[in-house]
Amino acid sequence: MKNIGKKIAAALIMVMAVSLGACAAPETTVPNEGNETPVEESVFTPGTYEGSAKGFHGDVVLTVTVNENEITEIVADHTETEGLGDNAIDEMIASAMEKDSLALDMMSGATYSSEAFLAALEMALVKAGADVEKLKVKEAGEEAVKEDITKDTEVAIIGAGGAGLSAAVSAHQNGAKVIVIEKMPNVGGNTIISGSAYNAVDEKRQAPQGIEDSIEKFYTQTYEGGDKQGDPELVRVLVENAYPTIEWLESLGMEFKDTVFTVLGALWPRSHKPVEPLGTGYINTYMNYINEHSDEIEILTETEAKELVVSEDGRVTGFIAESKNGKVTVNASKGVIVATGGFGANVEMRDQYNTIWPALTNIKTTNHKGATGDGIVMAEKINASIVQMENIQLLPMGDPETGSLSGNIEQGVENRIFVNSDGNRFVDEGERRDVMTNALMEQEDSMMWVIVDQHSYPTGDTVNNFNESIDSLVEQGRAFKADTLEELAQQIGVSPENLVKSVEAFNAAVDGATDEFGRTLFMHKIDTAPFYAGKRVPTVHHTMGGIKITPETRVVDVNGVVIPGLFAAGEVTGGIHGANRLGGNALTDVNTFGRIAGAQAAKEN
Ligand code: ADP
Repeated sequence: MKNIGKKIAAALIMVMAVSLGACAAPETTVPNEGNETPVEESVFTPGTYEGSAKGFHGDVVLTVTVNENEITEIVADHTETEGLGDNAIDEMIASAMEKDSLALDMMSGATYSSEAFLAALEMALVKAGADVEKLKVKEAGEEAVKEDITKDTEVAIIGAGGAGLSAAVSAHQNGAKVIVIEKMPNVGGNTIISGSAYNAVDEKRQAPQGIEDSIEKFYTQTYEGGDKQGDPELVRVLVENAYPTIEWLESLGMEFKDTVFTVLGALWPRSHKPVEPLGTGYINTYMNYINEHSDEIEILTETEAKELVVSEDGRVTGFIAESKNGKVTVNASKGVIVATGGFGANVEMRDQYNTIWPALTNIKTTNHKGATGDGIVMAEKINASIVQMENIQLLPMGDPETGSLSGNIEQGVENRIFVNSDGNRFVDEGERRDVMTNALMEQEDSMMWVIVDQHSYPTGDTVNNFNESIDSLVEQGRAFKADTLEELAQQIGVSPENLVKSVEAFNAAVDGATDEFGRTLFMHKIDTAPFYAGKRVPTVHHTMGGIKITPETRVVDVNGVVIPGLFAAGEVTGGIHGANRLGGNALTDVNTFGRIAGAQAAKEN
């Protein structure tokens, strides 16, 4: 709509100029002879041009129509993630048409889609004869005038991912005025691009599926699954508040599917799946609440916290941040909540702390680029205790090109196997994430194939967790499909004999034979065509170390004493999950501890 406003405005100026008989001096002129009126140099050769680039899920193809000076239409053809990549492309279309420019902001959480859009637009505009380097430069006047500002509030939150936004809603529900700052142009962080599985003991959903579960089982699996390194008190808070937080999210309008499943490395079928794709359900739920209470909850995007402010008596009273407009000082009378997420995208920091994996320098990540550990660094500077930084989680499920979880064809743990480049299984596929990733790293080229059958994809348009249909993945060459296992093996270049043997042994285990890798999680055999294969590699996923907190989410200093006024929640904290986080426990952590942090901070004097 914005572009329409601008074009109408331009038309009005033209009408006024004509009616006044005026002719504005052009900014750029072409050489002209004698007294002829200077002619404005056109930016584009009018016409319709196509550009394309590889996005998150395949090609983003743009059909761009231009007149001499303006982009008049952009039509996008793509399969980017619904609710995330597609929103980013819509926003970038509006922005490109408003500015007639390539100097556009990237959309947070949708970096690949944004980059693909820009590359495709550039390609089209090159064909339109544009000086694209000129179009990449921000227009004069577009840079805002710098002005330092100070804001006063009750609860101030750094980071607008799952933990920060749940804290914002909860703090407001508990009576506080709230400011949230976010360094990226968009809210959502890693949460919005996560697989979104949420673990909770939930009789209402589990009992009809015949699943037995208990808080004690959840506690034991979480604690022992992290090699007993997690703080028992924090694990207790996590498992006991997991379901109440689901009820709280539902009270805010969020919807979860009726059935639970076992997400990779969850060890038990208690993973809840939101109805909306990826983590968009959580973020949309919080943003709906925040938008309804925008008079009392303010969000400042593109505002990056740099340091925490501590008063003489040792209380955290606010923070200093930077935006493109200048310095932003936020004073918080009740408390500051650090919710800046992990450091999975900070290669230097990963290398600094990694002791448990081979070099991680060249391993890609599932994380968004804002996951750089800022909150940990800021808290450490004021003497906060930072714990278990070496506990970095990798998944065996990265896209070979991007490291992301997109394109993953598994649909829950029970119905798929992993085979290496020889077509042989090599691990219990229901194991802990670290065990599976270590086993994968020992295989040739650290790569494997996920094998599933029709049980996972009853139809070609059945979608995976990223809302990608299996047919589209096959079409893009990111998955392979065949009527027989032998044919599938040929397509992916593994020994047909070995693949068939691997599947037969797995099927025998489904029927009750002892599995050679000790696997216990089964549902269907892999015996019904079509059969599918998808390639996967190790990828950095979650950083379990970080700021030490109490069960009330108060930050503790290096002497074990609470730092007044300072709270932390989400991936920025350390010591909950221990050496290995169960799959599906991150969103439980982020939403549960965010909710507690908001309520606690709101109650401070
Ligand atoms: P969590 O799951 O713990 O909520 P997320 O990654 O979802 O973590 O969200 C953390 C958010 O914090 C991200 O949106 C990230 O861009 C933001 N963030 C990180 N560092 C800063 C900072 N210095 N200032 C403001 N926001 C930050």
